[in-house]
Amino acid sequence: MNDAPDALMIQSSQASKLLLVEDNESNRDMLSRRLVRRGFEVVTATDGESAIRIAREAKPDLVLMDMSLPGINGWDATRIIKSSPEMSAIPVVALTAHAMSSDREEAFAAGCNGFETKPVEMDKLLATINRLLAGRRGLDVDA
Ligand code: MN
Repeated sequence: MNDAPDALMIQSSQASKLLLVEDNESNRDMLSRRLVRRGFEVVTATDGESAIRIAREAKPDLVLMDMSLPGINGWDATRIIKSSPEMSAIPVVALTAHAMSSDREEAFAAGCNGFETKPVEMDKLLATINRLLAGRRGLDVDA
């Protein structure tokens, strides 16, 4: 048990950095913990405004964006991130409790690169994250 924090820090030093945007505290804490356990570095934001600010400052490799947020919602925060040259290349995965096909279309129209429904299926989410991170590394190599 005492070894766990060190092990996580060693992983995090080489890990991809995820920005998790989620206003629900228990969802945020649980998903954050699960992602850290899988070796990711996780920074969090609780609303759209801080999501945009932290995306700019922390330069995450990928954003997990709850769409239903107080203030600036996830769709608008995604539009702002995607219209900013310094952040537009960051993949954004929409997280929404709705599974309607119109929600999916709206998320992609806002600029999202992936879409997962809540409650999150961890294996599906990890596959989406890894696919988008791999695609991004490919782009970086070509650049
Ligand atoms: Mn929410």
